[in-house]
Amino acid sequence: MLTNSEIVNAIHQMREMFPDAGTTLNADTTFHFLIATILSAQSTDKSVNMITPALFARFPTPGSLAKAEPEDVEPFIQLLGLYHNKAKYLVKAAREIMTDFNGKVPHTMKELTSLAGVGRKVANVVLAECFNIPAFPVDTHVSRVARRLGMVKPDATVLQIEKRLKEAVPKEEWLNAHHAMIFFGRYQCTAKNPKCTKCPLLPICKYGRDNVF
Ligand code: SF4
Repeated sequence: MLTNSEIVNAIHQMREMFPDAGTTLNADTTFHFLIATILSAQSTDKSVNMITPALFARFPTPGSLAKAEPEDVEPFIQLLGLYHNKAKYLVKAAREIMTDFNGKVPHTMKELTSLAGVGRKVANVVLAECFNIPAFPVDTHVSRVARRLGMVKPDATVLQIEKRLKEAVPKEEWLNAHHAMIFFGRYQCTAKNPKCTKCPLLPICKYGRDNVF
């Protein structure tokens, strides 16, 4: 298992490889960013960005979406996986924002995760990106990279991964570290055929060495 400083060094190397790593979801308001993040579950950011301009234009505020029915939303998002459920979540979340939070997206983990379709990862993303509250969202890329590099045990849960990374990485670097790990997972340490032979982290990566040799 990597030590705290080995974890930080590995993430710094990822950051050097992907200095422009940042959010790739497009949104003009906090509410729309929340919607885009909910929609990104099991869909790529690119596919979400393709459908959100029309969706956001039709439903500019929580109030406008709260008045809709899921069937009104489905045509806008049907190119995405799970669009049936996602349409239900979006309408329900908008209604909850109107009734429970006075029409404003809340900014605590507890309140955010009370909304339909919002789990810990979505809440962490919104807290960090929209409210500048330190958070370390753990998605599929962050999980894979952390496990393969031995930052955590191979069977670590998402919550254990978040805890370990928060322990090792200084708070002010959490968001950048999250972005660096996502880009590294998306383009270098890919789920299938990771580019181990050209990876600067190969010397500290047992998974990679087993893969290569
Ligand atoms: Fe991923 Fe391979 Fe690099 Fe290890 S050596 S971090 S498995 S790309």
